[in-house]
Amino acid sequence: MELKIVSTTCPYCGTGCGLNLVVRDEKVVSVAAWQRHPVNEGKLCPKGRYAHEFIHRKDRLTKPLIKKDGKLVEASWDEAYELIATKLKTYKPEEMACLASARVSNEENYLMQKFARAVLKTPNVDHCARLCHSSTVAGLAASFGSGAMTNNIQDIAESKCVFVLGSNTFEQHPLIGRSIVRAKQKGARVIVFDPRYTPTAKQADLYKSFYSGTDVAILNAMMQHIIKNGWEAKEYIENRTKDYEKLKAVVMKPEYSLENVSGISGIPAKDIAMAAEWFATAPSACLLYSMGITQHTTGVDNVKSVANLLMLTGNIGKVGGGVNALRGQNNVQGACDMGCLPNVYSGYQKVIDEPAVKKMKEAWGCDVAGGKIGYTVTEMMDVLTENPPKLKAIYIMGENPMISDPDLKHVEHALKNLEFLVVQDIFLTETAQLADVVLPAACYAEKDGTQTSTERRVQRWHKAVNPPGEAKADWEILCELGRKMGFEKQFSFKSPEEIFNEVARVTPSYGGMSYKRLEPEGLHWPCPAADHPGTPILHTQKFANPDGLGVFTPIEYKPPAEVTDAEYPFILTTGRCIWQWHTGSMTRRSESLEREAPTGWIEINTEDAKALGIRNNEMVRAITRRGEVQVAARVTGDIRKNVMFMPFHYAECPANVLTNNALDPIAKIPEYKVCAVRVEKI
Ligand code: SF4
Repeated sequence: MELKIVSTTCPYCGTGCGLNLVVRDEKVVSVAAWQRHPVNEGKLCPKGRYAHEFIHRKDRLTKPLIKKDGKLVEASWDEAYELIATKLKTYKPEEMACLASARVSNEENYLMQKFARAVLKTPNVDHCARLCHSSTVAGLAASFGSGAMTNNIQDIAESKCVFVLGSNTFEQHPLIGRSIVRAKQKGARVIVFDPRYTPTAKQADLYKSFYSGTDVAILNAMMQHIIKNGWEAKEYIENRTKDYEKLKAVVMKPEYSLENVSGISGIPAKDIAMAAEWFATAPSACLLYSMGITQHTTGVDNVKSVANLLMLTGNIGKVGGGVNALRGQNNVQGACDMGCLPNVYSGYQKVIDEPAVKKMKEAWGCDVAGGKIGYTVTEMMDVLTENPPKLKAIYIMGENPMISDPDLKHVEHALKNLEFLVVQDIFLTETAQLADVVLPAACYAEKDGTQTSTERRVQRWHKAVNPPGEAKADWEILCELGRKMGFEKQFSFKSPEEIFNEVARVTPSYGGMSYKRLEPEGLHWPCPAADHPGTPILHTQKFANPDGLGVFTPIEYKPPAEVTDAEYPFILTTGRCIWQWHTGSMTRRSESLEREAPTGWIEINTEDAKALGIRNNEMVRAITRRGEVQVAARVTGDIRKNVMFMPFHYAECPANVLTNNALDPIAKIPEYKVCAVRVEKI
């Protein structure tokens, strides 16, 4: 019996905890926490603890599948590659698109955008960051010149005031929650504003529920109160920022008075005032947010408002400060960094900048798609329902839009309009079931590579076991297909390390990294040179904008795209739970996790339930303008009156049948967090 321990990184949330996989006789039999990992320090949340349970499931994909007479049947790799190469060569570049994945490695994401841009010559490449933090990338880049979390996770413990707005940190990033506890132990005040009384809210010194979608109004009211009391960081504003007067002209308007915003948000005026005072007068203050801020038609506005508050109080570029945008999936930061977005190559080099296009052409030794911004994933679904559809073929790696995307009837209609769909995944997901070709991929424990966690820490994955059957690592599949399609030189890599070395050559923020330097605990980007120590805290001397200044942006409050009315009288908001992950493709196949949260529910406030005559656990029908779902009611006082909540993990009661695909005009992120719903007894 051979026993070995292999260190790697958790495949679930963006915290990036270190795992030790316990391998016996070529099987991962258990997971232990990596004791010396700087973030999790020997601890794991339930998802990490059971991250081995799906690996050896009997329903893993083990052979390529090709659709024949409406049925997916087993095929050889040669047949699958031949079919994909032949079909893709028949389409024009603008008729094709690729979706990369926040679940695969940096190297694999880099290769997917290279495949799209160099082989298919299409600008249409995106991934699910569009659905979670595209507004962070756009909003923080506009304010600070860089669209990422500004401080590192350990630094949260140094803060004297932690404001959590739009994040259920203790359930969604539990090991980051430990930093909040540490800050509290060192005397920090914790403020949590959330429509639900979550495990995070239980940690708060000041907790208030509010109506989803009113964040800008709340932040403007806080800023008005700070300025009226002279608590703004005058010297910092003068020396390090610009456009303060423009901000002031908006936030000082009467509509952002404490009383008026109390009416909009549902938070008492005195509590908005208290939050403003605590935040502005603390020696250091940080703000943590996640999709409660980003998933709105005003997502970019919300992010810019957060940036305004932090600059107003002088809390960017210092220990204990920061805008800590908590990224959802394990490698969503890395997939963005690698250029799996329709407007940038790796390292956020813009595809419309001629020098960047020239650089990529030279680096890859071939013509590349450039000069034009491609479709986002949300736009792809829209153009697919046009007549005739503007897209004909999509290649999806490790994503499951048939559960994750808003307005699922629309998504299904869109995907069924495709002439050719390739899905590469580890299980036959709801999306893979619609595919013409399914390629079996390796999971995180079956390959080497790197990922980049929410705090910009780039760290290693180590292969522990072989993939099942004929499954292959995503990077191997992309290399073999790239070579098959005539790009021998561009896809000649023999290992993930060779790919990473190319990433470092063409990506300035990764320029000083190598596999050797990433051992054992990784480096924070930017790390531009081989002797650079990495950058845990951004903007300490100057912002990343060309003039080095942070930019205030005046933001007016706008209501959500869909508001309640007599027909749909409640606000529906969606999210996740601690036991499940994203579309459930991995956690629903982990017995220990599935046992704890085996199906979905809708949370209804106790008073609302009483008025509707609905009892706890009773099945109800939730109905929006887009569809209806039958789901069990969870009656609770932990959710605000007039607001309801559903987790989106469950195919049997999919919350995203109900959600609204109205988009933020800049980031094109959908408004998952607010739509109008009614609930009926069955
Ligand atoms: Fe994994 Fe996130 Fe849990 Fe850490 S906090 S063990 S990264 S799911």
